[in-house]
Amino acid sequence: MTGAEELLKEIKRIIKEETPFARAVSDVGFEGPNVVLYCKDLAPLTENGDAIRELAKRLRKRVILRPHPSVLLPKEDAERIIREFLPAEAGVGDIIFNEDIGEVVIETEKPGLAIGKEGTTLRELMYKIGWTPRIVRTPPIKSDLVRNIRLSMIHAGVERRDILRRIGARIHRARKAKEEWIRVSTLGGAREVGRSCLLLQTAESSVLIDCGVNVASEERAFPYLDLPEVDLENLDAVIITHAHLDHCGFIPALYNRGYRGPVYCTPPTRDLAVLLQLDYIEIAEREDKPLPYEKRDISRFLAHTIPLNYGEVTDIAPDIRATFHNAGHILGSSIVHFHIGDGLYNVVCTGDLKFDHTRLFSPAAHSFPRNETIIIESTYGGPQDLMPRRQQAEEELVRTVLETTRRGGKVLIPAFAVGRAQEIMVLLEDYHRRGELEGIPIYLDGMIWEATAIHTAYPEYLSRDLRELIFKNDQNPFLSDLFIKVAGANQRQDIIEGEPSVIISTAGMMTGGPVLEYFKHLAPDPNNTLIFVGYQSEGSLGRRIQKGWREIPLKDERGRLKEVKVELEVKTIDGFSGHSDRQQLLNYLRRVRPKPERVICVHGEENKCLSLASSAHRMLGIETRAPLNLETIRLY
Ligand SMILES: [Zn+2]
Repeated sequence: MTGAEELLKEIKRIIKEETPFARAVSDVGFEGPNVVLYCKDLAPLTENGDAIRELAKRLRKRVILRPHPSVLLPKEDAERIIREFLPAEAGVGDIIFNEDIGEVVIETEKPGLAIGKEGTTLRELMYKIGWTPRIVRTPPIKSDLVRNIRLSMIHAGVERRDILRRIGARIHRARKAKEEWIRVSTLGGAREVGRSCLLLQTAESSVLIDCGVNVASEERAFPYLDLPEVDLENLDAVIITHAHLDHCGFIPALYNRGYRGPVYCTPPTRDLAVLLQLDYIEIAEREDKPLPYEKRDISRFLAHTIPLNYGEVTDIAPDIRATFHNAGHILGSSIVHFHIGDGLYNVVCTGDLKFDHTRLFSPAAHSFPRNETIIIESTYGGPQDLMPRRQQAEEELVRTVLETTRRGGKVLIPAFAVGRAQEIMVLLEDYHRRGELEGIPIYLDGMIWEATAIHTAYPEYLSRDLRELIFKNDQNPFLSDLFIKVAGANQRQDIIEGEPSVIISTAGMMTGGPVLEYFKHLAPDPNNTLIFVGYQSEGSLGRRIQKGWREIPLKDERGRLKEVKVELEVKTIDGFSGHSDRQQLLNYLRRVRPKPERVICVHGEENKCLSLASSAHRMLGIETRAPLNLETIRLY
C-alpha cells in the first residue's frame, strides 16, 4: 500500500467511526493537498455542516465535497433554483456548470451574501441542487482575462482532476528519508534584482520558491536551473510569492523542461501572473527576441496551479507545510511560512515586502507560529535608501501634476501594470474627489486597465480603508470616470497632441511598451514632466534617464534609430514604493516574531544585500548572510 492509500484508509475509518455523515460518503480521495468526499446522499452532510468543519480541523486539511452524478439536478432546474434561492442583493451573474466534477461556479457581485454565515446558505443550496456551488466575484470592471482563466479552469475539468489526483498521491507519499537535513540554494536573485529563484530542499523533498526573469538583462535573464541538484521531474512544488515577472516570469518554462507538479499561489497572484506572462512573451515576440516559452506553457502552468488564500495551512510535500501571509507589496503578494518535518524547522520567505500602510494594502504580516530562518528582500537595503514619508511623496506628486498642467504640459508616469499604477490611481482619485485635480484627465495605457480589473475582482486582498470605501460607502476609486482607458495607437496621438493630462503607462522601467511612444513625443518639450514612482533596475532605460542621460537612441515608426533629446523635467518621487526602505526592513527584522536565529538577505544589488546583512547582524546579534547566486546554505 502506498503512503497515500494508507492515509485514505485511516480517513475512511475516522469518517465511519467518528462522524454522523458516514452513510453519505461513498468514497474518499485526494485532489492536490485537499481531501475529497464523494457523496451519494447530501442530506446528512447539509445537516452536519459543523461536523465537516470538525473533520477538516482534525485532518488539518481542506475538505471538499463532490456529489455523485445521480444526485445532480438537471442543469436548467439547478440554474432556476440558484437564481430563486440566492438573495437578489447578492447580484447573481453567470452560472457555469462543470459536469466533470459536479461543481457549479456562480458569479455574484456580493459573494458574502451568497455564501451566508459560515457557509449556511451555500450548504442549503447544495442540498437543493446536488451540485457543489463555488462562489466567485464578478469583477465590477469587466475582465476578459479573469473570465478566460475561470473558463479554462472549468474546461480543463477532467485533465485538472487527474493532475490534482496525481499531485495528491505525491504529497501524501510515505516518507523515506532516514536522515534529516534542510538546505536552501540561491538559483537567482541573490545580490541582484531580477530572476528570483530559491531551491529549498530537505532529505525528503524539494520546493522551488519563485522562478523569475530579469527583463532588463539579456545575459542574466533566467535562473540557474541546469544544475545537478535541480531535478524538475522530481520537484514537489513551486511557490510564487507574487506576480511580478522577476518572481514568476520563468514559471511556464518549467513545464517545457519536464516539470509536472503544482504551483501554489494566491488567486490574485495566479491571475496577475498570467496577465504579465502573456504580455512578456508578446513583447519578446514583437521585438524578435528568443521566446523562453510559449502560450501553451502558460496554459499548462494554469492547469497546475493550486490557489491558496492567506492563512490556509497546506501540505505541499510529505514533510513540508506552507502558509501564505500578506506581504503588503502588491495584490496577492505573500510572505510564505514553511513548516518542515513536524516541528523540526521553520523558514519564512518574505518575497518583496512593505512593512507600512499604503493606500492599497495593510503592512506585511510579522507574526508566525515559529521562525528559525528568515529570507528577506534587500531592494532598498543600502545605507542611503531612506524614503520620504508617503504623505510627503503624495503632496509632491500632486504639486508636480498641478505645476506641469498649469504651464500646459503633460505628466508621464511610467508604472508597473501591477502595484504602483493602482497606488497612484487611488491617490489621484482621492485628491480629485477633494476637488484638487479638477479637469485633468488621467489616461491609463498598457496592461494597467486589465490589472486594475483584477484588483476589483479581489477586494478582500486590499487594505481595510479601501475595503470600507468600496463596501460601506460604495465608492470604489477604481471605477471613477476620472480614468480613461487608452483604446489603441490612434488615441495615443490625440493624447500627445491634446490638452494637459496625466498619462500612466507601462513598462514601469521603460524597457518597452507604450510608455516609449509617449516618451518619444513628450521628451523634447520642457513643459512636460516625467515622474518615476517605482524601482528602476540597472541597465533599464529608466535608470539611464535617472542618471542624467539626455540623448536617447530610440527606434522610430520605421524601426530606424533616432536620437531623442530629453528636455522635459525628470523627477523621481520615492515614497510610493511597494518595497520597504532600509529603516522598515530593519524594523521588520526587529519586530518579526518569533525572533529568528538566522537572516538571509537576497533580492537587492550587491552592496545593499551586504549592507542589510551586516546591519541586521549588529542589530540582532544573530547569524546573517548575503549569499551569491549558486550558493547553498545548510539550515539544519
Ligand atoms: Zn515585486
